[in-house]
Amino acid sequence: MRVAIGFGSNVGDRTGHLAFGIARLSGRWRPQAVSSLYQSAPIGPVDQDPFLNAVAVFETADSPQAVLDHLLAVEQERGRTREVRWGPRTLDLDVLLYGREQVDLPSLTVPHPELTNRRFVLEPLVQAWPEATLPDGTPVADLLPAVIDQEITRLGSWGIPRWRTMWWAARRLVGGIG
Ligand code: ATP
Ligand code: CA
Ligand code: CA
Repeated sequence: MRVAIGFGSNVGDRTGHLAFGIARLSGRWRPQAVSSLYQSAPIGPVDQDPFLNAVAVFETADSPQAVLDHLLAVEQERGRTREVRWGPRTLDLDVLLYGREQVDLPSLTVPHPELTNRRFVLEPLVQAWPEATLPDGTPVADLLPAVIDQEITRLGSWGIPRWRTMWWAARRLVGGIG
């Protein structure tokens, strides 16, 4: 199954946290493509630093629940804590899409419920997986115009730590790093 994972970080070495996530997930699933890095203003009630966001696409034989369990374990490795909802975090990993399936479990809703409302998710998702669709067949690219007013900045590349990302992930990477 093709899964799209959303990455976010707004604490410490943000690019490093995202690169760590890409590398750890690439060790378990076959990476297909990684988006550029994007910067976005934080959402929610807490005053906090800007986020870096990215989306990566993988091929996996894992079930949706197993995918989520692995994401939560990798977040833990980066010292993710949950003190406040929508608070600052070293590494946030979300299941955006699991193929074209609708998943409704107590701990997991896919497509991610906020996917369609967030430019910082939709834009890198379309970049990494241009033909992605929702379960009802709607192309994800068609959702972008409705959120285009939200301000995000596309950072041209992964910057200085890019070589580290490449080093960790490149051997298995089929697509490219934007
Ligand atoms: P948001 O969901 O608005 O992006 P968040 O990422 O900050 O908020 P978290 O605190 O990281 O929220 O996650 C809370 C719980 O959401 C997780 O423990 C997980 O069980 C559940 N969850 C439900 N659907 C998903 C999904 N598609 N991806 C990741 N977690 C999910
Ligand atoms: Ca999230
Ligand atoms: Ca999350």
